[in-house]
Amino acid sequence: MDPQRSPLLELKGNIELKRPLIKAPSRLPLSGSRLKRRPDQMEDGLEPEKKRTRVLGATTKIATSRPRVPPLTAVPQTQGQTTAQKVSKKTGPRCSTTVATVLKNQKPVPAVPVQKPGTVPPMVGGKKPSKRPAWDLKGQLCDVNAELKRCRERTQTLDQENQQLQDQLRDAQEQTKALGTERRTLEGQLATVQAHAEQGQQELKKLRAHIVELEERLSTQEGLVQELQKKQVELQEERRGLTSQLEEKERRLRTSEAALSSSQAEVASLRQETAAQAALLTEREERLHGLEMERRRLHNQLQELKGNIRVFCRVRPVLPGEPTPPPGLLLFPSGPSGPSDPPTRLSLSRSDERRGTLSGAPVPPTRHDFSFDRVFPPGSRQDEVFEEIAMLVQSALDGYPVCIFAYGQTGSGKTFTMEGGPGGDPQLEGLIPRALRHLFSVAQELSGQGWTYSFVASYVEIYNETVRDLLATGTRKGQGGDCEIRHARPGSEELTVTNARYVPVSCEKEVEALLHLARQNRAVARTAQNERSSRSHSVFQLQISGEHSSRGLQCGAPLSLVDLAGSERLDPGLAFGPGERERLRETQAINSSLSTLGLVIMALSNKESHVPYRNSKLTYLLQNSLGGSAKMLMFVNISPLEENVSESLNSLRFASKVNQCVIGTAQANRK
Ligand code: ADP
Ligand code: MG
Repeated sequence: MDPQRSPLLELKGNIELKRPLIKAPSRLPLSGSRLKRRPDQMEDGLEPEKKRTRVLGATTKIATSRPRVPPLTAVPQTQGQTTAQKVSKKTGPRCSTTVATVLKNQKPVPAVPVQKPGTVPPMVGGKKPSKRPAWDLKGQLCDVNAELKRCRERTQTLDQENQQLQDQLRDAQEQTKALGTERRTLEGQLATVQAHAEQGQQELKKLRAHIVELEERLSTQEGLVQELQKKQVELQEERRGLTSQLEEKERRLRTSEAALSSSQAEVASLRQETAAQAALLTEREERLHGLEMERRRLHNQLQELKGNIRVFCRVRPVLPGEPTPPPGLLLFPSGPSGPSDPPTRLSLSRSDERRGTLSGAPVPPTRHDFSFDRVFPPGSRQDEVFEEIAMLVQSALDGYPVCIFAYGQTGSGKTFTMEGGPGGDPQLEGLIPRALRHLFSVAQELSGQGWTYSFVASYVEIYNETVRDLLATGTRKGQGGDCEIRHARPGSEELTVTNARYVPVSCEKEVEALLHLARQNRAVARTAQNERSSRSHSVFQLQISGEHSSRGLQCGAPLSLVDLAGSERLDPGLAFGPGERERLRETQAINSSLSTLGLVIMALSNKESHVPYRNSKLTYLLQNSLGGSAKMLMFVNISPLEENVSESLNSLRFASKVNQCVIGTAQANRK
């Protein structure tokens, strides 16, 4: 046997050799039977000796062959397996499964008769060997033996092959086992791969979604880009326009710069000029301030020269319906310079009935001459009167307390002088509204010099030594008696009336409203007590505060405008009934307070150490407006009527006494 030849090919060769044996008809009995053989068979199997026997003509048929059971089904399998092994070796374990499947389906190859070298009778001289003659039993037996021997050999060979095949089968099974293991491994790998694939799919899905999103964004961005491109084009256009504008402006700027440099030089010189002007202005302001202070000082001096206590006499006109006074009752003699001089003198003529009675003959009336700082005859207008006191009022702004009284009998024109006439006629406005208007206007002028002023008004009434607020509103309106005069703060000289309203004012309208309210309050009180207003003192006070913040200056003073109670005296002989007694008490209170006022003025004039301010509510309330550097003005109001001559004389005498207290011009006019 060829060692290079595979067992499969060996087996195939063997099978091919057997086939003619199977297919050949054999009539040879297994033992003792007559062997029949076809002539060609006989010839093929006979040896040369036996051929001679045949020639002898013996006809014996010998079965030269017997049906054998060749492992035909096994042949292709063996062949297939061998091939599979070969292929397996070449392609590796992966192909072995496929090969095995192919082998399984392979049908057994039909046996093809193949002449075996040993069975073929030898060709003699190029001729077919002749069959053993039938009679040549010995030869045939020899053939059979030879055949048997061959068969045994053959069986041995087949056993070996079988052994080999079984080995191969074991190998194959082991391989199958290995392949099974490999398969499981591969299946595991496959599962992993599938899981990976699934994961990959999901990622792919996500990526697709992301791609879609990105595509959308891309399209948006593209839109934006297009928009921006459009805008860029517009901006470029605008830029071009702006560039040209800029160029134009640069050109203008250059022109302006040239102008500017020339202007700067001009500005520098102007600055120098301005600095010089500012220095001049400061100097002038200083001078102005100095002048203002000097004006104040001189004004004060002037007021002092005019008298710190001045007395003006005012005679009211005869009212419609009143009896015309006899001529010469009141005379207003001219001054030393003639009628052009403002009147300062007044003569009152009174006939003395007692003297006439004693002598028994008519006695000419007695003439009483009085001289005051100023006398206002009946025709004097309100503005004329105010003009005389305007400078005095202004002293209050300069920090000097000012107090103006109206003294006189009831009906002599005190209220008319202080507040004004009826009907709200501006021409008839009295001193209070005019004084305040004047103060507001002067304060406004002084604000230009750095002064700031504020004004607070109060208006009270003193009746029978009780104080009542004339500016009371609401439920307190018309009520009185609950006000007291107190020091504003402990240790302070400033006085205040408790429960009275102190109203800040800054314009005429506000003052008008206050005066209106005071009139209403008096009217309400009048219903309770007849003509109470004439039996009480009305005190209008304005607290003035001024400040020059840049110079740190402050000034403050009260302006008091007092409408005194009627000065008439009540005849004690007439005081019989309860009403008269009450009236007497009122009159005594009034007289007491008025005489206290006179005493206070006297004490101040004589520079006495004790000034009896506390003797009446009126002087107590006014103490800050009377002493020290305060300026006082008293209007003595006179009735032009003959029936009032006695009271007029009393008033003139009182005023004259006050006037005597004055050092100054009034002294020269002293009678
Ligand atoms: P008193 O307040 O002193 O009691 P009034 O001021 O009430 O007096 O005056 C009495 C009347 O005389 C009032 O009707 C008033 O209008 C009038 N009267 C007073 N003085 C003048 C004057 N100078 N001119 C015009 N009328 C006057
Ligand atoms: Mg009055």
